[in-house]
Amino acid sequence: MTLDLPTLLLVAALLSAGGAATFAFVLGDFAADLRPHVRAWGVGLGLLAASWLLLAGRGVLPPGLSILASNLALAESLVWQLRALRGFVGLAPWRARHGLLLLAQVAVSAVFTWGVDSVAARIVLGSAVLGALLLESAYVLLWRGERPHPRGQQLLIAYVLALFLTLLWRSVAVLFSPGLAPVEILALPANLVAHGLAAALPLVGSIGFLLLLHQRLVRRLHAQAVEDALTGLSNLRGFEHAAAARWAHGEALSLLAVDADHFKRVNDVHGHAVGDAVLRWLGQQLAHAARQGDVVARLGGEEFVLLLPGATPEQAVAAAERLRAAVAEAPFIDGAVRVPVTVSIGVATRRADDSALDAVLRRADRALYAAKAAGRNRVVVAD
Ligand code: GH3
Ligand code: MG
Ligand code: MG
Repeated sequence: MTLDLPTLLLVAALLSAGGAATFAFVLGDFAADLRPHVRAWGVGLGLLAASWLLLAGRGVLPPGLSILASNLALAESLVWQLRALRGFVGLAPWRARHGLLLLAQVAVSAVFTWGVDSVAARIVLGSAVLGALLLESAYVLLWRGERPHPRGQQLLIAYVLALFLTLLWRSVAVLFSPGLAPVEILALPANLVAHGLAAALPLVGSIGFLLLLHQRLVRRLHAQAVEDALTGLSNLRGFEHAAAARWAHGEALSLLAVDADHFKRVNDVHGHAVGDAVLRWLGQQLAHAARQGDVVARLGGEEFVLLLPGATPEQAVAAAERLRAAVAEAPFIDGAVRVPVTVSIGVATRRADDSALDAVLRRADRALYAAKAAGRNRVVVAD
């Protein structure tokens, strides 16, 4: 079997072009805020395909195209991949620095083609530019990405570092083989293997990037599944999940069942939209009253619950009374709309014979109904 460079380059071009087309095809499936990163990665693959294709035309195409444009497309492809990675982790593109690196790549290609015709200098200095871009990618992935590194990120780190080491190895091989003719340099095993790896590795990187995007979508869906859309507090599922962990701990805990008084009237008088705004505001009051480690949730309608881990009955009652007073004293105000709101609160504390959190929740609920029956805007403690 003989491995010749043009064949390798054509295969590499096909692989990258296929990848670019795949990214273009799936682009619409991604959330709007992720699309620019998916597009940037796809553009990077497209540029990579163009670069391999131009390089494969060496000897047929003029050097301006086969060397200069090809090296520029290669560096530009890494710039776009980097832009995808930076955008994904929330960093702005680094246009000035990347522009300089592209300029350096053009200068290296031009000087060592028309000034001094040296394939070795082109390879070593051009690799230095690419290496700088790859090292920055590694930095972004290792230190600016998610921790611990998810598998997709690990694949990307492996891709970037493998590409970097491949370029390094090729540069060293070229530097330690002085006096070779250009065709001999291009036929060096290091050069052939480097091109083979450079053809295959973007596949690994692309799968890593797609995995990372997928994982972000899954996390987002999970967050939405445990969050109340109106207030941003936990919903019933989120509450049960968070409460179960604290319940299992076996420590003391108290529950505050909170319900807005005569809320139907708020909707009737001011409309549903204002009612929603009042519920959001009420959610903020609760979150404000909570301390670190407390769980605040909207269970539905105008009913909320606060779980206070470690709170004694006295502390729970004091917290409930503070919350009730705070809501009663400061009405909801939005422009000309002023809505006085009060809440009734039932307080219950874990007992030694409680087998599940549900038992505490039921007592807190009964105490809440007692507070309603006693005239509302008050705190009642479960017996
Ligand atoms: P009480 O003091 O006895 O609790 O009286 P209430 O009117 O607050 O209680 P009731 O259970 O009779 O009515 C609750 C009202 O809360 C009914 C509904 O209009 C309103 N509500 C429930 N969910 C929402 C919501 O998501 N948005 C708005 N704007 N209103 C809601
Ligand atoms: Mg109510
Ligand atoms: Mg209610």
